[in-house]
Amino acid sequence: MRVQLLGVRGSTPAPGPDFVRYGGHTSCVAVTAAGADRPSLVLDAGTGLRSLTGLLDGQAYDGSIVLSHLHWDHMQGVPFFAAGDREASRVDLYLPAQDGKSGRDLLAQSFSPPSFPITPEGLRGRWGFHALTDGEHPIEGFTVTAVDIEHKGGRTFGLRVDDELGSLAYLPDHAPAAGISHELMQMLEGVDVLLHDAQFLEGERPVAVDYGHATVEDSVKLAHECGAGTLVLFHHSPARTDAALDEIGRWAPGLAGGLPVVVAREGMTLDVRRLQGSTGG
Ligand SMILES: [Zn+2]
Ligand SMILES: [Zn+2]
Repeated sequence: MRVQLLGVRGSTPAPGPDFVRYGGHTSCVAVTAAGADRPSLVLDAGTGLRSLTGLLDGQAYDGSIVLSHLHWDHMQGVPFFAAGDREASRVDLYLPAQDGKSGRDLLAQSFSPPSFPITPEGLRGRWGFHALTDGEHPIEGFTVTAVDIEHKGGRTFGLRVDDELGSLAYLPDHAPAAGISHELMQMLEGVDVLLHDAQFLEGERPVAVDYGHATVEDSVKLAHECGAGTLVLFHHSPARTDAALDEIGRWAPGLAGGLPVVVAREGMTLDVRRLQGSTGG
């Protein structure tokens, strides 16, 4: 599969001259199946989702969007996804099941007046809203696995996407220091590419604990423990400038001792194949 990083920021968008190279959009990752010419699976719908329209060559979106959790920075892009909001589109949106609510009602909690001018029914095209349970699900020809993970405020999934050629794990918001379940370690075992929360640094540990996030050091440790092929540091703090991220890119590989580490950058493409995570773009 081909993985395109459309938004790599956490919490809130980070515009401005200090954030140009790594990008300011919040979490959104587009996945294209091997042999296909455009993405059919999207992980999270942060503001980066707006960029997907440009990748679809004028076509309406025909695919799924799976949300890791319902925080603003992971779903604010939904109503601004032009290629999904037109008569010819088909979008299946999966939201972590909680409180016995339907997928539609989970979205409507923050996607309806007075928080937002329209309700889910105001989106054009064929939209399906699904409350996603944990476990394995066939979605768009991939196997998508969801496991409950530690974060803060509402149910949060760690996600894994498998095809015949490789595997990607996606945990943008995760507090491994709060505990790692057996199910999570099983899901992460030997994954080819691990995109993981790296919002904070060890010196910011109290804030990381407070907000339910990971440090770069936590991410490296977890990648080692699960035997990941490549670690991609993701969900950067909105305060982390390009210069600060360059700095992390200088020392994190040393900390990882041979495990390839990549600092996620908006616009980056990853080719995910078994036994090797090659990066480019
Ligand atoms: Zn987040
Ligand atoms: Zn979150």
